[in-house]
Amino acid sequence: MTIKPSSAATESPILSPSAALLEQLRDIYKDLHANPELSMQETRTAGIAARWLADLGFEVTEGIGGTGIVGVLRSGEGPTVLLRADMDALPIQESTGLPYASQRSGIDRFGQETAIAHSCGHDMHVAWLMGVAHQFAMNRQDWAGTLLCVFQPGEETGQGARAMIEDGIVKRFPKPAVTLAQHVMPLPAGRIGWRVGTMLSAGDSWEVTMYGRGAHGSMPQKAIDPVVMAASTVLRLQTIVSREVAMTDSAVVTVGALQAGRSENVIPDHALLRLNVRTFKEEVRKRVLAAIQRIVEAEADASGASRKPDISILSQFPLTRNDEQATLRVVHALETAFGPTAVSEVSPATASEDFGLFGTAWDSPSVFWVVGGIDPQVYAKAQATGTVDALPANHAPDFAPAVDPTLLIGLKAMTAAALAWLAPPQAG
Ligand code: ZN
Ligand code: ZN
Repeated sequence: MTIKPSSAATESPILSPSAALLEQLRDIYKDLHANPELSMQETRTAGIAARWLADLGFEVTEGIGGTGIVGVLRSGEGPTVLLRADMDALPIQESTGLPYASQRSGIDRFGQETAIAHSCGHDMHVAWLMGVAHQFAMNRQDWAGTLLCVFQPGEETGQGARAMIEDGIVKRFPKPAVTLAQHVMPLPAGRIGWRVGTMLSAGDSWEVTMYGRGAHGSMPQKAIDPVVMAASTVLRLQTIVSREVAMTDSAVVTVGALQAGRSENVIPDHALLRLNVRTFKEEVRKRVLAAIQRIVEAEADASGASRKPDISILSQFPLTRNDEQATLRVVHALETAFGPTAVSEVSPATASEDFGLFGTAWDSPSVFWVVGGIDPQVYAKAQATGTVDALPANHAPDFAPAVDPTLLIGLKAMTAAALAWLAPPQAG
């Protein structure tokens, strides 16, 4: 289960974080985990990252696209490498039972009070990048070039990367030769997954409001019932993937929120749906979105609604595509650092990311890879009993990575990947 670093990796101080640093990062990780912040509200987290970078000698710019941070560190002539960590948490009530579990709550973007939890592992991403920043700052003899450490707000809502780009990140900082990011996933800790081309699906989220006519619960003849309208819509939406998408293609349509009414004896006047679509091909995406609109409008018609449903876009994530040459360069670095068995090609995941927007905005190649966070023994047991799908995954209330060895693996992985561009030729 343990990863054998190659002799080159063990000798290089930049790839061998000290026990003291790891101890410090463990504390930081647990503190971030206990104090999660919702998308575009990451002021505390951003402050911690900004102070850390400034103490290490980075030039730090705060408040880019809201709470975004960019730290710049130079070490002579050489390429620029962008490393990105997302900072936001989710409106979820944590159920991990961990001693550092979140007790936090706040107001989400819909104005609702909600519990908050780091159920996607972005707290780990922040701790990783802080560790990587430390290693580069303390080992300048091992590299040449410019390091851009980007702490991004609002990944979950698809707002953050766009906000940083709209706030001029491309004009304000040097063009990277490559943009790199990694995500903790429910693979065994110690395993790293990569892929050339499509790595993550495109994601589209919509909010749909369906209008009926309110009345007393005992007088349906005076009402147009939006509860039945919405219920029927939800069921029919599930026929899109089964009846309208080719067997050789794939898509997901999930209605994650369905709200209408308050009391049993009042027929409400509207219902609200929030839904999420994942696709791997633009033509499938267009077809699925068109089908959703068609069904929503037709169901409103079928109920005799006097007003057309309102549809608004909540978020839009592009496909995450990994550049071939840059990915193979990262894979070589990871295999050298961890040994080839720890690093494997994986299938595209139906998760979505806004990280790719940075590469697109700069016209630079991007590489996104995944790092396992499940205790390897727990994972092996689940595999033996055929219950891998029952293990907590990202966005589940009981998801949280095993701090060890996930913290060290991600720190080393991102350092090794960045060095694939920044290590001077004679060091190779
Ligand atoms: Zn997430
Ligand atoms: Zn995430």
